[in-house]
Order: sequence, then C-alpha cells, then structure tokens
Amino acid sequence: MNKLDAQRQKEIQQAEELLFAGPQALGFAKGLFQGHFVSDWVMPYPRIPDAQNAELDGTLSELRQFLNEHLDAAEIDRNADIPRSVIDGLGRVGVLGMTAPKEYGGSGFSQMANCKILEEIGRRCASTSVFVNAHHSIGIRALLLFGTHEQKQRWLPKLCTGEQLGAFALTEKEAGSDAANVQMQARPSEDGSHFILNGEKRYITNAAIADVLTVMARTPVPGSDKTSITAFLVTPDMPGFEIIEARMPKMGIRGTATGRFALRDVKVPKENVLGPPGKGLKVALTVLDFGRTTFGACCTGAAKTCLRLAIEHANTRKQFDKTLGNFHLVQKKIARIAADAYAMEAMTTITAAFIDRGLEDYMLETAMLKVFTTERLWECINDVFQIYGGSAYFVDLPLERMMRDARINQIGEGANEVLTSFIALVGMRGPGMEFKEIYDTMVKPTREQGFAKAWTAGKARFGATVRVPEVPVRSAELRSFASQLGRLIWRFNLAVNRALITYREPILDMQLLQERIANAAMDLFASTCVLSRYDAELQSAQRNGSSSSPDQLAADLFLRQSFRRIRRFLAGLTDNEDKSVLATAKSVLSNPGD
Ligand SMILES: Cc1cc2nc3c(=O)[nH]c(=O)nc-3n(C[C@H](O)[C@H](O)[C@H](O)COP(=O)(O)OP(=O)(O)OC[C@H]3O[C@@H](n4cnc5c(N)ncnc54)[C@H](O)[C@@H]3O)c2cc1C
Repeated sequence: MNKLDAQRQKEIQQAEELLFAGPQALGFAKGLFQGHFVSDWVMPYPRIPDAQNAELDGTLSELRQFLNEHLDAAEIDRNADIPRSVIDGLGRVGVLGMTAPKEYGGSGFSQMANCKILEEIGRRCASTSVFVNAHHSIGIRALLLFGTHEQKQRWLPKLCTGEQLGAFALTEKEAGSDAANVQMQARPSEDGSHFILNGEKRYITNAAIADVLTVMARTPVPGSDKTSITAFLVTPDMPGFEIIEARMPKMGIRGTATGRFALRDVKVPKENVLGPPGKGLKVALTVLDFGRTTFGACCTGAAKTCLRLAIEHANTRKQFDKTLGNFHLVQKKIARIAADAYAMEAMTTITAAFIDRGLEDYMLETAMLKVFTTERLWECINDVFQIYGGSAYFVDLPLERMMRDARINQIGEGANEVLTSFIALVGMRGPGMEFKEIYDTMVKPTREQGFAKAWTAGKARFGATVRVPEVPVRSAELRSFASQLGRLIWRFNLAVNRALITYREPILDMQLLQERIANAAMDLFASTCVLSRYDAELQSAQRNGSSSSPDQLAADLFLRQSFRRIRRFLAGLTDNEDKSVLATAKSVLSNPGD
C-alpha cells in the first residue's frame, strides 16, 4: 500500500468510527441520497409547544427591550469589544444558558426556541451572536451533552448566568480544517490523578475572557502506541495556562475576543475529562452540530435585516425620477433576498427540531444548513450593498460592517468546501455500500450469504430507482410543487447511482462532482423545508380565512428558483468543463512564476 492509500484508509477508518457508530434510523438527508422522502422528520412543519411558546415570547420581548436599549452594534465594532454590561444583560435575560436544564441554572429551552433567540441577536449584531454561540452553542455544549451530573453541578450554574464564560478550543496551527490533526498533548500522570497538557491553540473565540474552556488534546490509547483525542475542561487559573494574544486584530466580528493560548505542563485533574476518553473528536463534531444549527439562526436574522434595509432604501431613494424599487433589476434582488430569508428560517427550524425530537444523527443536515445559510447570506448582503450603491461603502451605514462580519461564516466551524465534500461523501456512502455489496458478490459469486445480502441491496437500489417518492402535502395548491420535488429526488438518486457506478472509488477525490451532488442535496433539503412551512402557513390561512401573504409569494419563488438550480446541478454532472478547470489549475499551480 503506498503512502497516499494508507492515508486514505486511515481517513476512511476515522470517518467510519466517527459517523457510523451503530444502527440508526434513516435520517432525512441520508434518505434523499437513497431516493426516499422520509416525511416523518420534516412534515408537518414543527411548532414550539404552546406552553414553551408563551415562555419564549416573554424571553423574546425582554431580550428585544434589552437589545434596543443597550446594544450598539456600531460601537461594538468600533471599539472591538462587547461591553461587560451587555454580557451581564444577556445573562440576566437567560440567553447564556438558554438550553441548559433548569436544575443547573439554565432556562431549559429547546433548540427551536434557542434559534429564535439567536435569530433576534443575529438581526442586530454579528459580534454578539458569535460571542453567544462561542459561549453557549459550543463553549458549554460538551459539558451539557457529555458532562457527568457532578461536572454539570459544579460548572454550569455560573456559566448559565454569564458570571463565568465558556469557550471551545479545537483549532491549532496544524489542525484547522483537518480537525483530527490536533497536536496538543495530554499525558496521564503516573498516579493517574491528572493529565499534563502541552501545546498551543489559535483563533479561539472568547479564549482570553473565558473562565472555562473545553480543550481538545491528544491522549495515549492504553496498551498501544497510538493516540486519540480527548476533551478536557481547562480553567485559566491552572498554572502553565498562558494567553499569547488576547484579541487578534481582525476584519469583522471585531467585538469578539479571538485569541491564542498555550498550555505548558498544565495539570488538569482527571475529573475534568469530558465524555469518553479517546472520543474527543466525536465530542467536538457533535458540539459543532449545535454550533452549525445556531449559525443558521444567526444568518436568518442577518438576512431579515438585509431585507428590511433593501426595502427601506428601494422605497425612498429616487433616480431617473423613480424610486429604485421600480427597476426590475432591483426588484429581482429584493425578491431573492425575501425568498432566501424565508428558506433560511424554515431550514433552521426543521434542523433544530431534528435535535429536539432526538434524531440520532443530524450531521448531514447541520452541515447543509451551515453551508446553505452562510452562502445565501453572503449573496443577500452583496445584493443589498449593490442596491445602496456608493452609500453602502461608508461607515455611517451598517452595510460595510455586515459584509465584513459575514465573511467569517463561510470559513468558521468547518470551511464550506470541507463541509460540501463531506455532505456528498457521507450522503453517497449508503447507496455506495449497497453497490459494493452487489459488486463484491458478482466478483465472488460463491459466497452464499454475501449473495443474499447483495440481492437485498440490489432490490433496495432497484426499488428506489423505479419509484418516484411521494411528498405528502395537505394544501391542494402545493400538489404540483410536491410532485416536482418528488421527481427531482428520484432524478437525484439516479444521478448519484450513475456517478457511483461510473467513477467508483476515485469519486472520493472528485470534489467538483461532489460539489454538484452536495449542492443539489442542499437545495432538495431547503425546498423540502420551504414546502413544509408553506403548507403549514396555507393550512393556517385557510383555517383563519386570510388571503395570500408576501411570505407565501417568497416561498413560491424559492421553490421555483431552487428546482431550477437542482436541474442545473444535475445537468452539470455530465455537461461541464471540469477537465479544463483542473488542467488550468494544475498548470498555474506548477508555474507560479509566470
Ligand atoms: C474569527 C474566528 C473565530 C474562530 N473561533 C474558533 C473557536 O472558537 N474555536 C475553534 O476551535 N476554532 C475557531 N476558529 C477556527 C476556525 O474554525 C478555522 O479557521 C476553520 O476551521 C478553518 O481552518 P483554517 O483557518 O486553519 O483554514 P485551513 O484549514 O488552512 O483551510 C483554508 C481553506 O482551504 C480550503 N480547504 C481546506 N481543506 C480543504 C479540503 N479538504 N477540500 C477543499 N478545500 C479545502 C478551504 O477553502 C479553507 O477555507 C475561528 C476562526 C476565526 C477566523
């Protein structure tokens, strides 16, 4: 086996361990890749239960009042600091422990409710929403998910009020996108009472203001010369903890404190190990699922601000004797922002509901939500920027700040390229394994048991290929959209099968093809979420006797545009200039001087 193959085998083994721990119910996104529409997870559109909704309304109105009176996003950006009074206020409203159980001092809200809170903050100030995410979505998440009762009792109460702050420290110089490559070492002491941590972390939000950090470090695997990653709770008062840089000066989300720190022979008690030893990467990736869900909520909030700003300007600014809103090229932008904001909210709500309803594996959906919403928000900001013309460029308007702030979204918590490839490969694994069964049996037909397995796999594959999945909607007006969606899922499944049969293992490296498959899958998921929400709204409008709203027009537009994109992505699988793209890149990369 050459070095590259060995590395590939290691990566595959790592991914298998991480992602496919045991038998799991078929999730929605994995279902798409197999030609199924797993309707139970997405329809009817989820609602926050009435009792919690009333509580959420109270918290939201308290939060809005606090933010109106005390949050100045421009000042936070200018001073590159979120005032302590803002953090304390968020703590008082309950935002910093929103989803923590009440017994540990949290507010006990669901992820769906939490997303409404983050959307509200995301509408106003990206620095503040990223700060809250770093503390609550990821900083204390491992403690919430994997902590023992004693650990939660000890740490959570102060973290939920904001008296103490949390951070999540995974990234290092050599472990950016390649998160599994953590180099920070954690050596067990001889008496087994503690671990000794050494190494450096960089780009860590809240590093210098946190009182408790979830730190990923490499521990030896007992009885072997291998190492694996373990999660630790580290506090800055531990001797050997050193902040190298408290606030790295940066382009956007300037209010957040992004720092670098070193641990030099830091003794961390064994009681501070979070989750199973050696399973830190699984801990980290699960934590990031939550971060990506609230990312969706923050982007939704920011997209709604884009829409509001676009409408305000298009209705007031006159050129050629008309307000800008009269020009079709401006209308096109505003309509698209409205459609995307509608979809972002629907997708966030449904993904958060997966978590609340206890779906075991939602990695694909959270990755899709993160990529989709961050890419759409970037487009939304670019469009509203254009509508404002020259005025957008000046610092008295929020647009240049919003643009600077939004740029990190496509990079943080998994660069979008990495997640795009991940979506395609994890999604294709299911049908890929079925094909492998069929292929292996054809090569070794004597294996009786193997033949039975292959026959079952073949039947499943064949079944999905001939059947157009049913997409159940309650509103008669949406039947045509539902049947178009069903047909697109069927076509998508055919395209995935064809790609797997045509390219086989080399598909693992074909990122241009993976991107089209992932993009189509993301739009299928987004369309599903929009259809589900649209259906629920139409049903409710019918019950109340109300007529169509701008929201429903936006939903209609989204579905039309999304279906067109899906067709384009699928057509691109066979009609493209990939060879030329790759040849040009290769040539340019090997001739840097030209
Ligand atoms: C403001 C800010 C706050 C952050 N906060 C935190 C935090 O709180 N905690 C934490 O642990 N980390 C944090 N990070 C780190 C962040 O998660 C990483 O920056 C991110 O994971 C990317 O890693 P990298 O910067 O090393 O980029 P690299 O890994 O060097 O990647 C650079 C680019 O290469 C491309 N690329 C990389 N791999 C692939 C691939 N396999 N296929 C195709 N393209 C690829 C992508 O376009 C990517 O953007 C933060 C970063 C920033 C900038």
